[in-house]
Amino acid sequence: MSNFTPQTVAESAYPGQTGEIRKAYFKNAPINYQVINGESVFQNDIILHDHELSGEPVASEGTGRTRSTAKWPNKIVYYVIDPNLPNPQRVYDAMAHWEANTSIRFVARTTQRGYVLFRNGSGCSANVGYSGSLQYVNLGGGCSVGNTIHEIGHVVGLWHEHTRVDRNNHITINYGNIAPGTEYNFDTYAAQGYDGFDYGNTIDLNSVMMYGPYDFSKNGLPTITRKDGSLFSIQRNGLSPLDIATVQAMYP
Ligand SMILES: [Zn+2]
Repeated sequence: MSNFTPQTVAESAYPGQTGEIRKAYFKNAPINYQVINGESVFQNDIILHDHELSGEPVASEGTGRTRSTAKWPNKIVYYVIDPNLPNPQRVYDAMAHWEANTSIRFVARTTQRGYVLFRNGSGCSANVGYSGSLQYVNLGGGCSVGNTIHEIGHVVGLWHEHTRVDRNNHITINYGNIAPGTEYNFDTYAAQGYDGFDYGNTIDLNSVMMYGPYDFSKNGLPTITRKDGSLFSIQRNGLSPLDIATVQAMYP
C-alpha cells in the first residue's frame, strides 16, 4: 500500500490497521477477510462469526441464507451496553434516531438469547442482521453518533449501499485505484454469496450506508465515481429517506 491516506469515514476503517488476509467460505461463497484484533472482518466493518466461516463450502440450504437475511423478531433489537464503553450516550442517541425514523425498537436485554452488545473496540464494526445469539457492535473512540447509526444499520440487516447488485448501472468501481488485497470490499452482496435485495431502482449516494469515493484508494484517485466520472459526497448525519424506506420494506 502506498503512504497515501484515503478519505475514509471512521466506521469504514480500522485506522492504520491492516489485518492478515485470509480466505474461507462464507454462505457457500469463497471470500477474503482480514483478521484484526482476533476478529474476522469482512468489507472493513462487518464482523463474521467463526461459526459462519468454513474451510470448504457447506451444503446449500436454509440456515446460512436465513441467517444472512435474518430480521429481528417483532422489530425489537435487544441490546446491552458494556459498562466499559466510553461515551455510551452516542449509542442512546443513535438508537433514538432509529426509533424516531423507523419502526425498529430497542429494548434492554433481560434473558433473550439473541441480542447485540455495544462494546469498546478499535474502529467501528458490526454483525449484519439478527444472529439469534450474542452479536456485537464495536465502537472505537472515533465512532460518532452517525457512525453508530451506520453500524445499527448493519445490525438490522442493511448492507453497504455500494454493494447493491444493480450498482454498476449507477456507479463505476475503479479497480485500478483500489489498494491491493482490499478489492473484496467492493464486491456486491450477491457476488459474495449473500441474500439481499435492492430497494428502489437506483443507488442512494445519500445513504448513511454508502462508502466514500476515495475509500481504499491506493493512489489518491477515486475508487468509486458516478457513471460520468464525477465525484459525490457521503454523509453520516443520519438515515436518508431511502434508508428509511428500505428498512420499512424489510420490516413492514
Ligand atoms: Zn459498514
